[in-house]
Amino acid sequence: MIFFTGFFFVEGLLGLPLWLTCTFVAVFGAIIGSFLNVVIHRLPRDESIVFPNSRCPSCEAKIGPLDNLPIISYLVLRGRCRACRAPISIRYPAVEALTALLYAAVFLADFYWRGGLTLIILFDLIFVTALVALIFIDAEHMLLPNAITYPGIVFAIIARLSLPYLVGINAFEDLPQLAYGPFSTWPLWASSLIGAVLGALAGGGSLWLMGWLWERLRGVEAMGLGDVKMMFMVGAYLGWRLTILTIFLGVLSGSIIGVGLMARRGEKDMQMQLPFGIFLGIGSISALLIGSRIIAWYASQF
Ligand SMILES: [Zn+2]
Repeated sequence: MIFFTGFFFVEGLLGLPLWLTCTFVAVFGAIIGSFLNVVIHRLPRDESIVFPNSRCPSCEAKIGPLDNLPIISYLVLRGRCRACRAPISIRYPAVEALTALLYAAVFLADFYWRGGLTLIILFDLIFVTALVALIFIDAEHMLLPNAITYPGIVFAIIARLSLPYLVGINAFEDLPQLAYGPFSTWPLWASSLIGAVLGALAGGGSLWLMGWLWERLRGVEAMGLGDVKMMFMVGAYLGWRLTILTIFLGVLSGSIIGVGLMARRGEKDMQMQLPFGIFLGIGSISALLIGSRIIAWYASQF
């Protein structure tokens, strides 16, 4: 009940009701999703993200601003190009709708569980935006571009250094334990940075080690370095506990879908390559949104 009364009556940002603020955040998410479609299409092709303007991939006709509205234009045009009637990929409205939903979810999860309207929301939205781009680029091209993972690692470090001072010790899931525990005499930024290093080792380090062992044992390359770099970014941002949960959720969802696909295609050998980044991305977003709840529930079982 508290949730629902809060949702409609607690005044949110700028004195707006919370549901309205949440709607604005979702609309903003749809617009970012529209930009992500450009990134997903152009970044792996080494094309400029800013120029030229959007064109239909089949007839090269320029897409006017009114035909470029997130989700709405796809529905109005019934999924076809205005000029040549070529079908538009469902991926476009799907990315826009998914980004809108995730933005709303991040906003609500952070508002209710991580101290209301704080800068955490802004940082989490950037983190989720990078993950959505990585998930869809990996799905289409089987690669996780350095152009996203490297800045992602830098972003995680900046967040680790600044957020504890901007919003306090609860900025990161692992920070209170580190700062009050083994590093209680260290400055806040230092214990936060140690959390980032531990997380990066739990994420990228463990993945790299597994790949190295697999290569030694089986003589085949198990996973690309893209996954390792992606998990350096995720680990540094989420901290070691949520990162272990991320890998667990990633392996779990990847095996379920992988086994399902193999059963359907009737593939005999297990060499089929799955873009693992998709599942690590799904795991990361789940861990960000509800990971602390899952860990608390798990700990309460003992
Ligand atoms: Zn066209």
